Amino acid sequence: MIQASGLRKHYGDTVALDGVDLHVREGEIHGVLGQSGAGKSTLLRCVNLLERPTAGTVTVAGQDLTALGERELNRARRNIGMIHQHFALLSSRTVAGNVAFPLEVMGVPRAERERRVAELLDLVGLEGRGADRPDRLSGGQKQRVGIARALAGNPAVLLSDEATSALDPATTESILALLKRLNAELGLTILLITHEMNVIKNVCDSVSIMARGRIEESGAIADLISTPGSRLTREIFPLPEPAPAGSVTLTFTGDPRRAVVSELIRKFDVDLSILGGSIEDLAGGAAGRLRVVLDGGEATAALAYLREAGVIIEEAA
Ligand code: ADP
Ligand code: MG
Repeated sequence: MIQASGLRKHYGDTVALDGVDLHVREGEIHGVLGQSGAGKSTLLRCVNLLERPTAGTVTVAGQDLTALGERELNRARRNIGMIHQHFALLSSRTVAGNVAFPLEVMGVPRAERERRVAELLDLVGLEGRGADRPDRLSGGQKQRVGIARALAGNPAVLLSDEATSALDPATTESILALLKRLNAELGLTILLITHEMNVIKNVCDSVSIMARGRIEESGAIADLISTPGSRLTREIFPLPEPAPAGSVTLTFTGDPRRAVVSELIRKFDVDLSILGGSIEDLAGGAAGRLRVVLDGGEATAALAYLREAGVIIEEAA
């Protein structure tokens, strides 16, 4: 649905994007995770051509946006909604007036506009709030207005730039639940950027990790977790680095209730001490990471058995 190839963006001497390739499939929620200054917002603004990339191409829904003139681009952008960290609502307009704004720009007649606005406010859980001023709303409600406005033109793609970063944890969760529901009910493809790991854990099917204008790794969350040495794994399951000498770090995907550890102790007669670990319930399935020291018995055979069972094994020197 979204394909960016060889994207570069320079601001004078600053290289904000240093050759980015990004692929987001239709119907997916794809997260871009990275620290402040990594180039995430620049990437998002290049995806809808609010910024023209210095080099590279962006294709959305099969259309090469970088090849379009300003007029055609404005039309193509209707297929791409966007929401922002600070909501970007017009304070002089009511809630309904904010949601109606893009419809006015598109020239939608009044009666149809009003019908559509009511439908959108329903969709985001703001029925009956159309006449309110934005400053009467909580942060979460303001973001719901932002989402309704972004969906006014019935886009196939929603871009989200840190949409929950200004919200408290409970409100963040309710907005993420709304995005998940819109993804499922409307088949909306969502590209969201964030510096918060919990956003990635809660809603994303796939993720790209960005640093210094580059994507360091990208793919389905379960696939990245199953890749030895993945940075995503280290960030989701933080453990002290470097691992103590002689320890073994095990990463599990799939059913974390599988009694691998007790099987190991029974079958191979090993002593096992646990140094740390955690289990996470991710949008794409559960996964866990455990750091242990194995002693006695057939420790080598035990590791081979785990490897055979699909566990990722990192042995500290
Ligand atoms: P992020 O969203 O990951 O925090 P940004 O994409 O905002 O990162 O910024 C990436 C880099 O590009 C930063 O070094 C930033 O200072 C620079 N940058 C972003 N926008 C502009 C701009 N309009 N003019 C000059 N430099 C910019
Ligand atoms: Mg940013």
